[in-house]
Amino acid sequence: MEKKLYPEIKIAPPGPKGKLIIAKDKQYASPSYIKLYDLVVDHGNGPWIYDVDGNRFLDMMAGIAVASTGHSHPKVVQAIKEATDKFIHICGTDFYYESFSKLLERMANLVPEMGEQKVFLTNSGTEAVEGAIKLARYHTKRTNIIAFRNGFHGRTTGAIALTSSKSKYRAHFGPLMAGIYHIPFCTPDAVTENEHYSKIIYDLEHDFFKTIVEPQEVAAFILEPIQGEGGYIMPTKFFLKELRRLCDAHGILLIFDEVQSGIGRTGHMFASQYFGVYPDIYTSAKGIASGMPIGAIVAKSSVMTWGRGTHGSTYGGNPIACEAALATIDIVEALLPSIRSHGEETIVKLKKLALKYPVIGEVRGVGFMIGVEFTNPKTKGPAAAFMEELEMMAFAKGLLLLGCGTSTIRLSPPLIVTQHEIDIMLKIMEECIIVLNKKYGF
Ligand code: PLP
Repeated sequence: MEKKLYPEIKIAPPGPKGKLIIAKDKQYASPSYIKLYDLVVDHGNGPWIYDVDGNRFLDMMAGIAVASTGHSHPKVVQAIKEATDKFIHICGTDFYYESFSKLLERMANLVPEMGEQKVFLTNSGTEAVEGAIKLARYHTKRTNIIAFRNGFHGRTTGAIALTSSKSKYRAHFGPLMAGIYHIPFCTPDAVTENEHYSKIIYDLEHDFFKTIVEPQEVAAFILEPIQGEGGYIMPTKFFLKELRRLCDAHGILLIFDEVQSGIGRTGHMFASQYFGVYPDIYTSAKGIASGMPIGAIVAKSSVMTWGRGTHGSTYGGNPIACEAALATIDIVEALLPSIRSHGEETIVKLKKLALKYPVIGEVRGVGFMIGVEFTNPKTKGPAAAFMEELEMMAFAKGLLLLGCGTSTIRLSPPLIVTQHEIDIMLKIMEECIIVLNKKYGF
């Protein structure tokens, strides 16, 4: 039987080796990098990360929902090694190779409910979003795009025009791309409202389309079917269905940005399958290749109508990333049932913790896309400082967590995580909550 591992902190991070690396980084790095806490990685294995000073951390954020098969999964490593021995680059935009066409085929069949599909491979999520905007405008010959408040779509100039999760992502970068409108997302409050009524949809039809933009001038709606960076916010199925209805009625394209919610994270290959509502175009990136940089724009064949040379990429669909993706998708597909059941068990355990500690205001999510929102039990407002301290305290105890929204911890572990590791996470989170509750008088 394999020995069960636990986090191990031999020296408070950053240790001496870590400090040297951080010092060099600070001297030369762009000040725009965030660097949430002083984790200096040496290597990883499954859900475990080892720092340069010999500490072992349990990774419950998977490099921001990317290391889908865990760190350095042997099958992914093998695929990468074999690919590098063959060739490293030739440019998939201009020439052919087997792994590229195999991945196109694989990606075009992950959401069979969308019918016949075509795929464009990118290097990142933001690039997939840029391409999806271009495709929507090209195909519809319309310019306007409706995005949703609190959404996050990336950091390139087109994507920041769609993003509204934090104003700092947009500040001083304008003028931003024209033709973008933001409307409210299905807020957590709205989720508890009547399933058969959405004020947001009502306002769109009876106000927005009458006073701001005519629907026949709208190329697309773009949204994350579950908001990621904005706070792991779940819409209702009804809300998504109603958007689909509006799109069908007015010839508007529905774009799902599944960069964070895709590739098994919800226990379904894509969140669209969890909701049973299907887009015309979706973007994917995180998780496709366990960390190798690759993304995709996947569209119904009837929509991917742009002509030869209208869009391309030097590196997109690099052969090494394609092989890593093919290996990753096989592993993730086999894991889907266990992601669903482990995810559900985790949510049940977290909800039990919430009953014990009212500072946990809400637990929401599906599969391994789980948000734990911290709320001040006295004011009922967001407990942002509490959440940030919890993140730091957990790090000091060997647990890697990551916040999102205002006061939410996003649990997005590698999809191979076991109940043993989930229980470690719960134990450490509870220890931190007990200490912080005392400090904050909650
Ligand atoms: N879209 C969503 C929903 C994301 O979560 C992200 C990244 O967090 C992006 C787009 C941008 O992806 P990338 O950082 O690979 O450009």
